[in-house]
Amino acid sequence: LANASKALKIGMMPADGIGREVLPVAQRVLSLTPGAPKFEFIPLPAGFELFTKTGVALPEETIRCLKEECDGAMFGSVSSPSHKVEGYSSPIVQLRKNLDLYANIRPVVGVRGTRDEDKWVDTVIVRENTECLYIKSETIEDTPNGKVAKAIRQISERASTRIGKKAFDVALARQEMRSRLGTAAAVGQAKVTVCHKANVLSTTDGLFRESVRAVKENDSISKGGAGRYHEVEMDEQIVDSMVYRLFREPEVFDVVVAPNLYGDILSDAAAALVGSLGLVSSVNAGDSFIMGEPVHGSAPNIAGQGIANPIASIRSGALMLEYMGYTEPALKIYRAVDHVLREGNVLTPDLGGKATTDDVEKAVLLALGA
Ligand code: ATP
Ligand code: MG
Repeated sequence: LANASKALKIGMMPADGIGREVLPVAQRVLSLTPGAPKFEFIPLPAGFELFTKTGVALPEETIRCLKEECDGAMFGSVSSPSHKVEGYSSPIVQLRKNLDLYANIRPVVGVRGTRDEDKWVDTVIVRENTECLYIKSETIEDTPNGKVAKAIRQISERASTRIGKKAFDVALARQEMRSRLGTAAAVGQAKVTVCHKANVLSTTDGLFRESVRAVKENDSISKGGAGRYHEVEMDEQIVDSMVYRLFREPEVFDVVVAPNLYGDILSDAAAALVGSLGLVSSVNAGDSFIMGEPVHGSAPNIAGQGIANPIASIRSGALMLEYMGYTEPALKIYRAVDHVLREGNVLTPDLGGKATTDDVEKAVLLALGA
């Protein structure tokens, strides 16, 4: 993908709330990072507020532009209405469907020096993003014993296999990045942990587990021994003990791959380990498109005050670059952010500081040498 001559076109959807404050920061950091490719940022409308004004949360033109013109995208945050709103479906969900972004990749990285070094967390959660309970096939019926509601949970071999492959690719890419970053991370060896509940749900979670496990075995067979997945260690965790161990000994996990619902819960739990949602980044990835997105929501309680932490967005921008193949500038951004966090003088209120969004942007740009 890396092509130095042509500007990368990135669709920018700040959407709602603090998304509008933090996404522009990510944009400026990306464009000022030394060694970054040339960018052309294309502002695109989307969001709940847009829906309340126009009846459309994700305009056709936004989808068309992303599909036909953009090399990648970034999304800010969308307000979630507290009750069901007729005709509304989240633009993020629509984007995932339209662009076939089947993987949500969420690194959870601690800050050196702010925690017991033994409890260093540097993990990536790879969440399947298209099925499981999220196919939203629910029924409710009146029975003599009262109402009974049911939900169908879909796990397919195809979706489980492709998310499994993604997890192995992420593990190999991380191994490479680790060696270049030069931080002797507690986890030296690339590893994929398959998270499931096959002891109870032997059919659905059983299929997920078998499909992911088969990815490693089939890789060396199909590539006549030339595949690299054999370099990646593989183990598994039942989801409940996974959560327990994530809090007790986060340092043992490298890449964790999970079906949609477990992935959702795990990734929020993991975010709690690093101190603030304002630090946690993600990308939504398909086979040919990457969209960066901070994990937090629109944070209406602090929106408009200029104090939202922009680091989640800045890291999401770097993550998008990394997954597009531009690892050098991505590494520079990660290092600059780590530097600012470690120094600890310029922190927004969610991290116990008094700095503004703007202050953090300046500090990151300074650390970048921009
Ligand atoms: P939404 O419905 O859009 O998800 P929410 O009220 O659930 O909104 P979140 O954005 O999910 O809000 O955030 C949860 C909490 O974390 C809020 O207290 C919010 O202020 C805080 N928070 C989230 N992101 C940030 C950030 N980037 N900087 C500072 N605080 C944040
Ligand atoms: Mg929220």
